[in-house]
Amino acid sequence: MGQQPSTRTGLIGLTTMKLPSPIRLRIVFYPDPVLKKPAANVGRFDAELAALAKRMIELMREAKGVGLAAPQVGLGLRVFVCNPTGEPGDDLICINPCFIEMSGGEEREEGCLSIPGVTVNMRRATHVVMTALDVEGKPFQVTGKELCARIWQHEKDHLDGRLIVDNMSATDEIANRRAIKQLQEQYRPHKRQNVKTSKRRF
Ligand SMILES: [Zn+2]
Repeated sequence: MGQQPSTRTGLIGLTTMKLPSPIRLRIVFYPDPVLKKPAANVGRFDAELAALAKRMIELMREAKGVGLAAPQVGLGLRVFVCNPTGEPGDDLICINPCFIEMSGGEEREEGCLSIPGVTVNMRRATHVVMTALDVEGKPFQVTGKELCARIWQHEKDHLDGRLIVDNMSATDEIANRRAIKQLQEQYRPHKRQNVKTSKRRF
């Protein structure tokens, strides 16, 4: 379960994406293709980014989740928010996160706000040291164990376009077949806002 160098993300480079109005953001559901795309590094730290993070925390709380990554609100940016306890003081915003140390291993059931009704047994490191940037672009380093470490790994997977359903055992597949089929049937490709990165604009 080592870290993979995200070369694809590296090629995308630092993006200065025009963000949609935070109030319009909603959690997107599997099999929305945005969930499969590796996200790009954030290169601009401004009020818009802070508003996005704030809205993500709001959506995470509304959904009673412990973490939410930007691709889950339709944005291909390396941003995630998390809160293992639900206490407002424990909100953490992580931008362009990197794991610099991972150790231990434990298998547990995981769910995902974008894949309701599905749980998958995931083996995760139990100890993770992460570096990231805050909304102002200031670097910080944190150490997480057990649930915290698990949330960070789940959210970072989202930033790399990886989902819990990519990791199902035969048993998980049988247990989740009906819920996945239902999500596929319910999914309607909606007209999302046409978000473009500056890379394609001159
Ligand atoms: Zn998830």
